[in-house]
Amino acid sequence: MRCRICGAPLKKPGDICSNCYKEYQEDENLKKDVKEIYKLKRKYSIAYELLKYMGLILIFFICIIVFFFGKAFLEGVLTILLFLITLGVLLFLDKRIAVGTQATFYEKKVVYRFHFWFLKREKIVKYKDITDISYYQTFRQKRMGYGDLCIYARGNIPGATLLNGFQVKNVENVKEVLQTLKEMLQTNEN
Ligand SMILES: [Zn+2]
Repeated sequence: MRCRICGAPLKKPGDICSNCYKEYQEDENLKKDVKEIYKLKRKYSIAYELLKYMGLILIFFICIIVFFFGKAFLEGVLTILLFLITLGVLLFLDKRIAVGTQATFYEKKVVYRFHFWFLKREKIVKYKDITDISYYQTFRQKRMGYGDLCIYARGNIPGATLLNGFQVKNVENVKEVLQTLKEMLQTNEN
């Protein structure tokens, strides 16, 4: 007699070995875990986005001023139009990405979801596989209290702890959020 799933020889008659049974039960328990405890979102703020594109905005302004000084009014107006369209598209894309990103924390697992037009990704990380949580901040993010929150997880690929986990960018009040998550994971461990 051999295990139906992994092929290990069975000592007692049956379908599957004790290892596979344990894994199966774990998966079943994980599926039943649907009570939402916490939601992590990517913040979208116009002020922050404008700050991010400050360099681009400056370049456009310089161009517009140069055109008007050189009495190239048509070019000046076209540059303004191009500027508004570019900025509009960038802000729109950022908004779509922010709305489509979220991580939902349940009792035993966290589910990361990313949805952007036809692109759809979902990743389930068990709490017991999480090895570390931390955040990164650029100078700009620090001023707003934002940060990129990283959840590292062990998995099948050695050394790829972030690849097995995920990252949510521009989390608001990232310091407090990190503390909340750490406390939550401690109480909900295993
Ligand atoms: Zn087995």
